[in-house]
Amino acid sequence: MPGVFHLSLCLSPMKKDVVIVGGGMAGASAAFFLSRRMSVALVEREATLGHHSSGRTAAQYTLGISADTMRRMAAASKPFLERPPVDFPGGPLLAPRGCLTVARSGQVSGLERIREQIESVGARARITDAGETMALFPALRAEGVVAGLHEPGAMDLDVAALLEGYVNGAKARGAVFASGEAVLSIERRAGTWHVRTASRTVEAPVLVNAAGAWADQVAVLAGETPLGLTPLRRTAFNFVAEGSASPDAWPFVSNLDYRWYIRPEAGRMLGSLCDAVPAEPGEVRARDEDVKQAIAHIERDTAFRVTQVQSQWAGLRTFAADRNPVVGARAARRDFIGWPGRAVAESLLPRRWRRRLPRRSSATSCRPCTAS
Ligand SMILES: Cc1cc2nc3c(=O)[nH]c(=O)nc-3n(C[C@H](O)[C@H](O)[C@H](O)COP(=O)(O)OP(=O)(O)OC[C@H]3O[C@@H](n4cnc5c(N)ncnc54)[C@H](O)[C@@H]3O)c2cc1C
Repeated sequence: MPGVFHLSLCLSPMKKDVVIVGGGMAGASAAFFLSRRMSVALVEREATLGHHSSGRTAAQYTLGISADTMRRMAAASKPFLERPPVDFPGGPLLAPRGCLTVARSGQVSGLERIREQIESVGARARITDAGETMALFPALRAEGVVAGLHEPGAMDLDVAALLEGYVNGAKARGAVFASGEAVLSIERRAGTWHVRTASRTVEAPVLVNAAGAWADQVAVLAGETPLGLTPLRRTAFNFVAEGSASPDAWPFVSNLDYRWYIRPEAGRMLGSLCDAVPAEPGEVRARDEDVKQAIAHIERDTAFRVTQVQSQWAGLRTFAADRNPVVGARAARRDFIGWPGRAVAESLLPRRWRRRLPRRSSATSCRPCTAS
């Protein structure tokens, strides 16, 4: 039986240049880029990669991001997403959508702020008057619209294809993906990390912490000081609505208060309450009352009448205090690299960090242990 064969071979540790903890977008992107020059193993607790935040997004690429570093990373990611490199299995990952933010009276200065943010990274954004705003998203209730901000370069992002491309590209270079295996302990001995799951140990001189909402827990397992990351629950749902003939070509739209957003999605809509409720790392589910609240907001501000909620879910978005990414080695530890909580649109591991890592070593790998 193949399973028995695996188990007996995996008793010896798997030796790699880098071990990555976490198989969401952050871990998968790190595996893709690092495997260009190093041997890589990635360990993911869930049976499916991208099971948590990375599989629950609104799939939006926008530069209307308040955190400065995050915005610049998103802008720097665009060429990759538009034209992935030859070693990325898959085609373009972005499709035109546009993003519209709607302001009521007294809120236009908020639109100006977002416009400046978008323009600060060389992209275009335009303040629209009430009429233009309504023309862009005709289901808005006119009485609530004074102006809008249109970001034409905002895109739909094919999140599943991005994750799959990272994983398959890394696998093609020999990276090992061990899913369905929780990291239970991490020890540092004689310059090597020993990362243990119930069925194997991976040894590597460098550890990348890409555990998203669990990144502080993984830091503690590794004997490092937690950063104080905060996971915030966000609710989303797919719905069918009366009140619009064919919204497929309309932009992603949200109000400036950020009480709801909507994105047309192949004949139906994706909606969110834009909630950001502190939560413990773990499996999170949408609460019916949050979905109802979002629907009330959407029906108040648009002509939509939600006739059916087809699916609902929640996920964790994880933030440091300044809302910027936590990327890089600890000052005293070049070998412990933090890479948690990345938005999917900014998931490209910064070149600076790729350059500072050691080159591929002669470490041997336990190929038969490869899981996916
Ligand atoms: C509703 C919603 C909408 C969103 N919309 C957008 C959007 O439109 N655009 C955008 O760019 N971003 C969006 N985001 C944010 C985006 O989803 C996240 O920032 C991103 O997916 C985080 O990726 P990650 O790899 O850091 O985390 P995750 O995908 O959560 O991956 C972390 C992984 O680490 C694993 N792990 C943890 N501990 C262990 C352990 N001990 N052993 C093994 N494995 C472990 C977990 O099982 C998990 O799979 C949205 C998020 C939500 C919830």
